[in-house]
Amino acid sequence: MSIVMSVNAGSSSLKFQVFSMPEEKVLAKGLVERIGLPDSIFSITVDGKKTETVCDIPDHKVAVDMLIKALIDKGVVKNLDEIEAVGHRMVHGGEYYSDSVKASPEAEANFEKCIPLAPLHNPAGLVGYRSFREALPRASHTFVFDTAFHQTMPEKAYMYGLPYEYYDKYKVRRYGFHGTSHSFVSKRAAELAGKPYDQVKTIVCHLGNGASICAVENGRSVDTSMGLTPLEGLVMGTRSGDIDPAILEFVSKKEGLDIAGLMNMLNKKSGVFGLSNNLSSDFRDLEEGMDSGNNEAKTAFEVFCYRVAKYVGSYAAAMNGVDMIAFTAGIGENSGTVRAYVMKYLGYLGITLDEEANKKRGEEIAISTADSKVKVMVIPTNEELAIARETVALV
Ligand code: AMP
Repeated sequence: MSIVMSVNAGSSSLKFQVFSMPEEKVLAKGLVERIGLPDSIFSITVDGKKTETVCDIPDHKVAVDMLIKALIDKGVVKNLDEIEAVGHRMVHGGEYYSDSVKASPEAEANFEKCIPLAPLHNPAGLVGYRSFREALPRASHTFVFDTAFHQTMPEKAYMYGLPYEYYDKYKVRRYGFHGTSHSFVSKRAAELAGKPYDQVKTIVCHLGNGASICAVENGRSVDTSMGLTPLEGLVMGTRSGDIDPAILEFVSKKEGLDIAGLMNMLNKKSGVFGLSNNLSSDFRDLEEGMDSGNNEAKTAFEVFCYRVAKYVGSYAAAMNGVDMIAFTAGIGENSGTVRAYVMKYLGYLGITLDEEANKKRGEEIAISTADSKVKVMVIPTNEELAIARETVALV
């Protein structure tokens, strides 16, 4: 047995899970929130028992020290040397990485070069990694990139209709995100359907607060809805997804917004939150709003589902067919209403919904009928486990 930790560092947060491998047993999991803000929250769950501490955690280093102390205090490990490896979720690996890698000065330098492509996410990943490396210098560390799985996309899918020199000089292209989830879920879909992963066409709908769709053909990502950044594609919780780029000039002039103001609007004030007239970015609230006759909530819900259905249709075209569709992440796993609404558009693919199965929430289940031409499934994603598996494979 070896102990492996999966880590996901955000700018003010740190999510972790500790596994014993290869049994894949979760020994501890938790979250540090509001790092660098007053009243930070440290929560850890061991043996189903959750402990929450509110205190000031000024930076990631302090958060990591607190986490490691808690693992020892709670008997998860006896000493630090028991933690053999730490897998770090690193968002943007650019064109450098089509797979996870062992951390090294070279990997760190390459990752640093990708900061301009993900200015919010990559610095947090680095801070998280450096804090853990300091706290656990004898453990092996790995980088697991959100973008890596999509590096198999063909040029026709990743190039934008922009002057070529921007690709040449700055690597402006589609990268795609949620790669760990798309890979995990598409593999699991093939397993559950009893089909060889390298001979099957799958569309994965990762529908969470951030949402993206991926076309996986014969085990390789061939297209995905997020682009240079996680702003493109589906309508999300607060992100706009695809819009006419000329809207930016129009709104900028009308509202007097500069680039930073526009980006803030697109990332934080748009999506179903903006569409619902600021009611909520959470589908539980939107569905409740719809049920009580709120028109904007209904519009937001319909625009979201319609966009998902359009992407599924376009990826069925991109792969010249589809064998399986998998729903995952917060909305995909839990909202039967969203799934049913999306599937209403997909009858032309020979898909029929099993309404009883679709009522289930958060579990692995087929939601298409036995005679449906395309198998539709709900598959809970598990990015932490996927990171731990990648880490074990590497070290
Ligand atoms: P994620 O980003 O994958 O954690 O997904 C979070 C989102 O999932 C929330 O913002 C909600 O919109 C959605 N969600 C979670 N639980 C439910 C539920 N029971 N019904 C509908 N939507 C849900």
